[in-house]
Amino acid sequence: MNVYKFGGASVKNADGVRNLAKIVQTQANGDLLIVVSAMGKTTNALEEVTRACHQQQPAEAYSRWQTVRQYHEAIMNELSDQSPVPAFAPVFATFSQLERYLQQTPDESYDCVYDQIVSVGEIISTQIVAAYLNSTGIRAHWADARQLVRTDNTFREGKVDWDVTCRQIQQMAQSADGIIVTQGFIGQTPDGYTTTLGREGSDYTAAIFAFCLNADSVTIWKDVPGVLNADPKWFDETVLLERLTYQDAIELAYYGATVIHPKTIKPLQNKDIALYVRSFLQPQQPGTEICNNEHHLDIPSFIFKINQILISLHPYDFSFIAEDNLSRIFGRFAEAGVKINLMQNTAISFSVVVDNNPDKIPALLERLKQDFRITYNDGLELITIRYYNQRTIDRVCINKKLLLEQKSRYTVQLVVKDLG
Ligand code: ASP
Ligand code: MG
Repeated sequence: MNVYKFGGASVKNADGVRNLAKIVQTQANGDLLIVVSAMGKTTNALEEVTRACHQQQPAEAYSRWQTVRQYHEAIMNELSDQSPVPAFAPVFATFSQLERYLQQTPDESYDCVYDQIVSVGEIISTQIVAAYLNSTGIRAHWADARQLVRTDNTFREGKVDWDVTCRQIQQMAQSADGIIVTQGFIGQTPDGYTTTLGREGSDYTAAIFAFCLNADSVTIWKDVPGVLNADPKWFDETVLLERLTYQDAIELAYYGATVIHPKTIKPLQNKDIALYVRSFLQPQQPGTEICNNEHHLDIPSFIFKINQILISLHPYDFSFIAEDNLSRIFGRFAEAGVKINLMQNTAISFSVVVDNNPDKIPALLERLKQDFRITYNDGLELITIRYYNQRTIDRVCINKKLLLEQKSRYTVQLVVKDLG
């Protein structure tokens, strides 16, 4: 069994769906399961529908939803420009279900409503893909990931119940006929509510299925040639990393290389399942192979995060930063759902660098002010270099003021302010 994952960019229009079918036909051999994300920017658009719905603005929610619906209808129309015409009836049933949900003014929590609405993007995209594959003669079995991936009820960040999930996935795979087409990103609580696994969670879903089915490999099809040593958005000269260890892949993903979701690697590493990152635009190219090997990278990799805020906390009573203070601080960050990108302490202050998210940081600062004097510095960049040397540090620091530097054996993190 092999697992393929197709992200939103790969199926953003009818050509993308056709290209997916071609990749499945030309690249795969043996049993195949494909995990597909919502098409294009659908998840963002459905987040807007959710916001309107939760703010009791039904007209606004409905009109935003109509835009999403029309986008998918246009794709289906284009895919139907062929004979035989794909059977898209399940998609229209999903449209109606969501429209009924939007009409009933849900009174659940925001995060719960979010998952019920946003998950529909994945349902629709996979129904379209499965119908299209079947119409082209590639036998496809549509599998509902909500019936397979069991989570707790942490909406928007569901924690997977591996035992139930593995059992359900294995049962489904035994009886499925043809290529299995399923959704990334979504699961279900024991009492039947849909959950999501966190934004960009489809890579993680691919790893869950691969783990439960003891797959031979996972391939993530991307719009880049593979894992690069830097984001071409920030760097002119990037190098394709042909081979990576799981360890390096985890480190790069954890520090913010967006090419793979950080949770993806561990389940694969535990079962020694190779992960490939390949280009859906150039499917004949090998891309990057991530597996168990001894190969340390011989060039540095760079990860940039912009819009960072450096927050320093000083206890009012000049007490030392020790376990009791630290546990209170971590508790506050966890409650606010803010992930710490870097931290450093001195005897009487504790500094963290986090994404400056306007939905979360002001409230967190207010809360922290109850126990600590706060100073902060925003508009910063966090640069992580894996396999650094002094020359690479100097190079990224040109025209920047260095505020904080943290080195370990292979990785350096620099918090800088752009002076340009
Ligand atoms: N559609 C979801 C998102 O955009 C999940 C994914 O694409 O991985 O976050
Ligand atoms: Mg994606």
